[in-house]
Amino acid sequence: MKIETLAVHAGHHVDAATGAIAPPIYLSTTFERQVDGSYPHGYKYIRDNNPNREALEQCLCQLEGGVAAAAFSSGSAATMSVFQALQPGSHLIAPLDAYSGTTSLLREIFIPWNLSVTFVDMTDPSAVEQALEPNTKLIWVETPSNPMLKIIDIAKIADITHQVNACCVCDNTWATPMGQNPFQWGADLVVHSTTKYLSGHSDVMGGVAITKAADDFFQKIRSIQTLGGAVASPFDAWLVLRGIQTLPYRMRGHSENALKVARFLSEHPQVETVHYPGLQHHPGHEIAQQQMQLFGGMLSFQVKGGREKAFAVVAKVKLFKRATSLGGVESLIEHRASIEGAGTKTPENLLRVSVGLEHPDDLIEDLAQSLNLD
Ligand SMILES: *Cc1c(COP(=O)(O)O)cnc(C)c1O
Repeated sequence: MKIETLAVHAGHHVDAATGAIAPPIYLSTTFERQVDGSYPHGYKYIRDNNPNREALEQCLCQLEGGVAAAAFSSGSAATMSVFQALQPGSHLIAPLDAYSGTTSLLREIFIPWNLSVTFVDMTDPSAVEQALEPNTKLIWVETPSNPMLKIIDIAKIADITHQVNACCVCDNTWATPMGQNPFQWGADLVVHSTTKYLSGHSDVMGGVAITKAADDFFQKIRSIQTLGGAVASPFDAWLVLRGIQTLPYRMRGHSENALKVARFLSEHPQVETVHYPGLQHHPGHEIAQQQMQLFGGMLSFQVKGGREKAFAVVAKVKLFKRATSLGGVESLIEHRASIEGAGTKTPENLLRVSVGLEHPDDLIEDLAQSLNLD
């Protein structure tokens, strides 16, 4: 079935007890045992499993074309489970511009935990090849990247990963399964922050790890999920599953709007440069055209002038909200360097935009009046 149909139906079934079409929310932490000690419905205790979480996992698994999924309380918890599933002493390769929370997890938790990490510019596959070590066990891909929207060729990196029998993980948060299917290009594991487009309404936090094969590595992730307990709550799982039902149509709208906003910005005299993979001049445009079905709703642009000029533009927006995060129906804009803090490589004149589902003319009008600084 096509993704629009899966988004509506995967993980959903009519409630046998009541005939309810929308799924009930099962808050129960514990489930009844039979006199012989068995659990006839397969549920025992909430940390191990719960009907809402199970439904969400089934749905996400089908959307990405995997065989199993583990839903977490945040994208970062999902990311953490992947690194924890490695043996201490392992080496991994990550992009220089991975999501800043992922970089911080590696630097503050996992390098002290004895994982060694090489950060490389993954737009250059030969840099990945050169970074390989005898104990390289995992390569982390994130494309498009944050906040520069760099495009990594997933198939090329997956090939390099498999030459050394390592695991290729793709953080697919920005593209979503509607925008790109990392398994199709050779990735072994997909991670999402469901806080963003999958839930889609800026009202729930969650994450997921989805696997292409039922292997020992995923079993380890499953154990970390159920033993560690950073699981999606029943209500959170319900909200994400409900959000996913409109994902394909939302992503079309986000992408259509983002391209219009990107084109407007690229012609604006106050704008130095626009980073959006849907633009022809974008250095990753050709790869993006090949591996993405939609270019997504995220873009960033650099204004002429420095940090103060960027702040002045953001100060004038009326419709856009000044906030971090992404993937909701409302458009957001943020000065990225100041949220990433000390040591950031993000240019001081860069603004990151999550293009929402408002009418593109209204968004463009708001940006036009904000950029008009006399
Ligand atoms: C937000 C985000 C995360 C982290 O997800 P949380 O749900 O905030 O923990 C990871 N990767 C990317 C690309 C993100 O945008």
